[in-house]
Amino acid sequence: MLTNIPGYPRIGSQRELKKACENYWAGKISLERLELTARQLRKENWTLLQEAGIDLIPSNDFSYYDQVLDMCITLGVIPSRFRALQQTLVNPTCPELYFAMARGYQKNNFDITALEMTKWFDTNYHYMVPEFEATQQYALHQPKCVQEFKEALSLGITTKPVLIGPVTFILSGKIKDPGLDYTTLLAKLLPVYIELLRTLQDAGAAWIQLDEPSLVTDLDPAARELYHTAYSSIRQALPSVKILLTTYFGGLEDNTALALQLPVQALHIDLVRAPEQLETILAVLPEDKLLSLGVVDGRNIWKNDYTASLTLIDNAIRQIGENRILLGTSCSLLHVPYNLETETDLAPEVKQWMAFAQQKVAEVIALKQIAAGDTTLLAGNEAAMMSRKTSASTHHPAVKARIQQITTADTQRHSIFQHRQVLQHSVLQLPLFPTTTIGSFPQTTEIRQLRSDLKKGAISMETYNAEIREAITDSIYRQENLGLDVLVHGEFERNDMVEYFGEQLEGFAFTQNGWVQSYGTRCVKPPVIFGDVQRPQPMTVAWSRYAQSLTSKPVKGMLTGPITILQWSFVRNDQPRMDTAFQLALAIRDEVKDLEDAGITVIQVDEPALREGLPLRKSQRAAYLEQAVKAFRLAVCTVDDATQIHTHMCYAEFNDIIEHIAAMDADVITIETSRSQMELLEAFAHFRYPNETGPGVYDIHSPRVPAVAEMEALLLKAAALLPARNIWVNPDCGLKTRKWAETEMALRNMVTAAKSVRANI
Ligand code: GLN
Ligand code: ZN
Repeated sequence: MLTNIPGYPRIGSQRELKKACENYWAGKISLERLELTARQLRKENWTLLQEAGIDLIPSNDFSYYDQVLDMCITLGVIPSRFRALQQTLVNPTCPELYFAMARGYQKNNFDITALEMTKWFDTNYHYMVPEFEATQQYALHQPKCVQEFKEALSLGITTKPVLIGPVTFILSGKIKDPGLDYTTLLAKLLPVYIELLRTLQDAGAAWIQLDEPSLVTDLDPAARELYHTAYSSIRQALPSVKILLTTYFGGLEDNTALALQLPVQALHIDLVRAPEQLETILAVLPEDKLLSLGVVDGRNIWKNDYTASLTLIDNAIRQIGENRILLGTSCSLLHVPYNLETETDLAPEVKQWMAFAQQKVAEVIALKQIAAGDTTLLAGNEAAMMSRKTSASTHHPAVKARIQQITTADTQRHSIFQHRQVLQHSVLQLPLFPTTTIGSFPQTTEIRQLRSDLKKGAISMETYNAEIREAITDSIYRQENLGLDVLVHGEFERNDMVEYFGEQLEGFAFTQNGWVQSYGTRCVKPPVIFGDVQRPQPMTVAWSRYAQSLTSKPVKGMLTGPITILQWSFVRNDQPRMDTAFQLALAIRDEVKDLEDAGITVIQVDEPALREGLPLRKSQRAAYLEQAVKAFRLAVCTVDDATQIHTHMCYAEFNDIIEHIAAMDADVITIETSRSQMELLEAFAHFRYPNETGPGVYDIHSPRVPAVAEMEALLLKAAALLPARNIWVNPDCGLKTRKWAETEMALRNMVTAAKSVRANI
């Protein structure tokens, strides 16, 4: 039985690559220094995996920015807008073009936009979207996978190069020319793929991993045909190349027969997300194929349950024999942090239930040994599993009982929206086109400094609180001066919209160094939800009450919604995800009630991550959305009719989920629209979305100050699509990354635009 790791984290255990890249971009270090860091990181990974005893050690899982972008450069999938820049580059191998495609290029008289970025399947990792144009000529460009394979070889390690498979690569991109279709595109790309595989084979690669996670999604007949064409062409051209076709993030389901027909030597399947597929696949696995069992979770930080994994492994051994089995993690370990051992602050009880990348590699080896008969390793694991099952810090009967007692009435407002709207308008006395912001105001260096001083113990809690009150006072004063209608306190006390709540809830743990790559050099450190969630005391009420005491205008209470907290955390895997969501919803519900009792008349519950929780398979989406909407409603439907509930989401696709957005029944939803020129509102108009909507009138991602006329035009566009009484005026999202100067100028223009539209409608 061979052991197989589909990929390893690459940012560096101390985020060395992030720092080196950013220093290189800032001109602080040379390219040589950057490359040196990269080489060291690769060497560390390979050595670690080799010393652990892993047989199939990945290479080319390293990337300076993104593995899909690496493929674009390797194959020559370069958008034409970069051509002129490309011609000016003296050294074609320098990463200038690469980083320009990643980040855009604004110097030497060029102003070229970056590739678009989007989420990699259902992960929080964002990849660069390939752009396919009819005039592109594909050819190999000093392929990095070959260089890295040889680099490992020179260290005495024969690796398994990892590439995005041709079909997933095509499906993950965008066709830019109407004349171009998938079949033509594949025909153009295949010879280059084949040449690449041949080069790797000639360099000495035994196994080559082709990642095809698209095989766990709904495929139309044309996409299935692409699979047949691609893999039979590869087989024909290279009869002896050993391909490990790798799937993850779900089960093959209706694509099982397709995947098994493809002429490859081995298939990797995800048995964490879809353990039930093992039986089906074992029954029909062609005799000449090996099967790689992904039993150790590459997406979450929990220790593997050896007994459960062994049931799967033993079953496979019985049916196909251990010589045809590979054993590994479910997917690349890119999605988990490096090393649990360096976490010194975690409660030992919780820490013993966890495993990061390095520990997961050890688990794969241990499982192989246990399967071979060495059962001494089982006892410790069983003890950890038992401790988790019975822990008093994890299990709170009262919390579990409370989610069992949720009734329909708990998820319904007292009256329908039309009735609430009348009441709210009479209480709030807002003008038409009321103005507001999304919540956060600039997190200045001083504010960040305050937090780090408090953490270091350099200032007292009293000083910290006084300074935050000062910042709130200042922001209320500024908002009144600007003439905004519904104010916010500014979220100065928050480091992050999820962590801030997690730190105040029971059932959460935090790591010191549990970073995972989100995109490029951006990393996130998700909280860990390990136990039943409850709220020991109010979390935001004091700040909101203070802010409201400073003004006669309404100040919005500001909370993060249950689904967003869930999506941006490592979630416990010992109960259904949605049970955890409902526990979170109940904690938020208590906070909503306390805010209302404290005299807050407008309360916003942000759900920017609701859409990203959508399952990969269409058949599972309605169920997810129903539950997610229920969690939101549970969180907010405790208030009186006169209390106005807002929600906020910042993305640009609502078409396919608009009925569920409507079912959330928020009195007001603020959304991102400015970059799409209100196009997105058409979904709302077409659906006749009944409640109030705040389509963002300016993009907060850049310091640019939009002109009055520009925002007026957008508002008029909105007014043509929705009833005027339902329209709010606000930016696309929170302003925490902006500076005060541009923020005030932009908001002043926004208020002027609102007034002018009010006067002219
Ligand atoms: N209220 C949050 C803010 O203004 C919302 C952030 C978000 O949508 N991601 O920062
Ligand atoms: Zn937002």
